[in-house]
Amino acid sequence: MLTPVQVSQSPESKFREYLASRPKPQRFTSAQQKMVRFIFSSHQHFDAEQLCADIARAGLKISRATVYRTLAKLVDAGLLRRLQLGERVAYEHDYGYPHHDHLHCQSCGKIIEFQNPTLERLYQEVAQQHRFLPSGYTFVIRGTCAECNQARMTKRRLDLV
Ligand SMILES: [Zn+2]
Ligand SMILES: [Zn+2]
Repeated sequence: MLTPVQVSQSPESKFREYLASRPKPQRFTSAQQKMVRFIFSSHQHFDAEQLCADIARAGLKISRATVYRTLAKLVDAGLLRRLQLGERVAYEHDYGYPHHDHLHCQSCGKIIEFQNPTLERLYQEVAQQHRFLPSGYTFVIRGTCAECNQARMTKRRLDLV
């Protein structure tokens, strides 16, 4: 996990502000409040179904429809980031967390976070070259992690014996 960045507002108050500033202002419901608190209690990469299961396990009564709807709003509000990992769509904190990119192990599913200033600069540079106003980018390195590679090598060696 990377070091969280300082933010002036709690995720809850930021989301409340977002809902109130909609063309059609919305109320911050207690289910949403519980959900935001739950999501922001730990940094993870999770998908919607996993979140539904975790919420149920934690004893919170939030409907699946509310979870899905609120996830979309949290992304729109800039609190969560949506991450396309192959077929899977994962979410993670955007608010209060530094910008970073990912390596995704296709063998064990592990997600490794990294920060690289060169990549950040390159993204700005390319956008500028095309007079493009960027709103974000997705960069995921796919492959196999060190542990999985190690396991594969060991297996191959055993197969040869
Ligand atoms: Zn792996
Ligand atoms: Zn991440």
